[in-house]
Amino acid sequence: MTETDRLKGLADRLLLEGTLPPEDLRSLLLHHDGQGADYLHGLARQTARKHFGNRIFIRGLVEIGNCCHNDCLYCGIRRSNRHVERYRLDRQTILECCRTGYEMGFRTFVLQGGEDPWMDDERTATLVSCLRQAFPDAAITLSLGEKTVEAYRRFFEAGANRYLLRHETHNPAHYALLHPASMSLDHRLHCLEELKRIGYQTGTGIMVGSPGQTADHLVEDIRFIHDFRPHMIGIGPFIPHHDTPFAHEPAGSVELTLRLISIFRLMHPAALIPATTALASLSPDGRERGILAGANVVMPNLSPLHSRAKYALYDNKASLGAEAAEGLALLDRRLAAIGYRIDKGRGDYDNNRRAGCHTSEDTTGIEAHDLKTDILCIK
Ligand code: SAH
Repeated sequence: MTETDRLKGLADRLLLEGTLPPEDLRSLLLHHDGQGADYLHGLARQTARKHFGNRIFIRGLVEIGNCCHNDCLYCGIRRSNRHVERYRLDRQTILECCRTGYEMGFRTFVLQGGEDPWMDDERTATLVSCLRQAFPDAAITLSLGEKTVEAYRRFFEAGANRYLLRHETHNPAHYALLHPASMSLDHRLHCLEELKRIGYQTGTGIMVGSPGQTADHLVEDIRFIHDFRPHMIGIGPFIPHHDTPFAHEPAGSVELTLRLISIFRLMHPAALIPATTALASLSPDGRERGILAGANVVMPNLSPLHSRAKYALYDNKASLGAEAAEGLALLDRRLAAIGYRIDKGRGDYDNNRRAGCHTSEDTTGIEAHDLKTDILCIK
């Protein structure tokens, strides 16, 4: 059996069985076989199309503030970075951003921000209630970091539906390398469990190529995500920020990120998996390649133009053009060029879709999609 055939067999088994032994996951991650990778992406793309058709869900991202009391070593808005011009959007501004998005057709708003003590549970719950009242048919997603269980419950009762909290790495020693001693992996995992228990559609994920990350760490992450079964899985490359301790570390690999997207699609056919901003920031065709590897969500930026540059988690973060809400027409054209369309529905996780997971299916009909041709078409 050739190496390509072996990798194809592993991708088939992953779809069929939902997981693989660690050494096989390692092979899928590490073997740089062009045809094997094409097959993996093709199978993942076909799996996504079976569940979602050629539709890509959009989420309007509002970066509500960059004040943060945490000091994550990778993050540009970490507390120790004295060069950040801090900002905090007021409730009215956030509502206006969402109103603009609503009129464009967005039915999910993602509120993301640093962990800001001023933005306490009371203020956050009030903000969520106001949004819930103003947009009864829209989904509200929060991405505001670690809170108490009571706070998560309060936000849920106020009308939040989804929560994004990447675990970043499932390996405790690696977690300790990326975070200050005041943060712990156990606490983050506890938060994730609680979010799910409360009833949130819960998202987790990792940065690919974060400093100190090994293939074994990634295998641990895959196994954790397999067991946790998040509704949403955010996978983006690590990108250095010049004012952090990791300023001189290399960025993560686009190809490895794409392989992980495909692996997660095969493991969780119904999961909501974004082609992340980090992927689009690192590579001009990153968004399209993410979708062609099995992603089914994009998150255009709805924040006010003047605050976008201040929410710099990493250098050269994309927030304009097809990464921006006002660039929706451009996004639509770029998606059309690879055979996809924007879906303006809420795009909730569909529990019923899970029933169809991991069924055996004839995969011989997968057309070899020529990524390069697709991408050259994009104007
Ligand atoms: N405070 C919130 C939101 C954090 S920003 C929280 O802790 O969940 C959202 C995500 O951006 C993080 O979870 C992290 O995975 C990603 N991120 C931060 N810095 C990054 C960097 N330098 N490169 C790539 N992704 C980064």
